[in-house]
Amino acid sequence: MSRTLPLLLPVLLFLTPSQDPGYDDTPRLPDGWRVHDSKRPRPPIVDAAGSMPGDAIGLFTGTDLSAFRGRDGAATWTVRDGAMEPNGSGDIETRREFGDCQIHLEWAAPSPCHGESQGRGNSGVFFLGRYEVQILDSFENPTYADGQAAALYGQTPPLVNACRRPGEWQVYDIVFVAPRFGPDGALVSPARATVFHNGLLVQHDQAFLGATAHRALPEYRAHAATGPVRLQDHGDPVRFRNVWIRPLDLTRERKG
Ligand code: MG
Repeated sequence: MSRTLPLLLPVLLFLTPSQDPGYDDTPRLPDGWRVHDSKRPRPPIVDAAGSMPGDAIGLFTGTDLSAFRGRDGAATWTVRDGAMEPNGSGDIETRREFGDCQIHLEWAAPSPCHGESQGRGNSGVFFLGRYEVQILDSFENPTYADGQAAALYGQTPPLVNACRRPGEWQVYDIVFVAPRFGPDGALVSPARATVFHNGLLVQHDQAFLGATAHRALPEYRAHAATGPVRLQDHGDPVRFRNVWIRPLDLTRERKG
């Protein structure tokens, strides 16, 4: 037996059914795949063990501003102690352009705090350079609801105020879906954002009403499918660290 088994192995392997677990005789789902379809591609494996997922692009990981450009070329925000902060040199934006994406960023409002309302710890993250998720020191700092931290600025307040004290690190995890425009420039589907602030859901697949505006109604004007992610210099030294982004395609084609 022990002598013949090695000779039989190739035959046995050939006769073994497909190694893909699953079924090919089950009903079809609306998207065309069968229930437990053995042929359905499995999602790619991503190493999520570290501080940044294996498929993410690090935008700022502690020392290097080269993923960004500033008003006059290179980004010149102040970098110290593993964080970057605006210094009056203006907004910075990514050199790369993104459409649909997931972004992670950590920020801390200045401590001790200064000012009030929109004048305290104000910054923001603008997708495609246009659609702002507000950053603000909203800890015991009343302001208009659609301008507080994690608001879609000037449009939709967050579901709750999850802001930590000034000086404490806070986390935004945002899924952004870019707007789609038709060939004639008409809006087909609006920009959307899902936002977690310090782990709490504060915006759920919320549509933007248009590009961010101040004291004016937002409106859409057709633009390219991708654009930079911009961080705002609103005159307050809000610190940022551990900023990464995962480009996504949230309109991926499905079988069927
Ligand atoms: Mg802002």
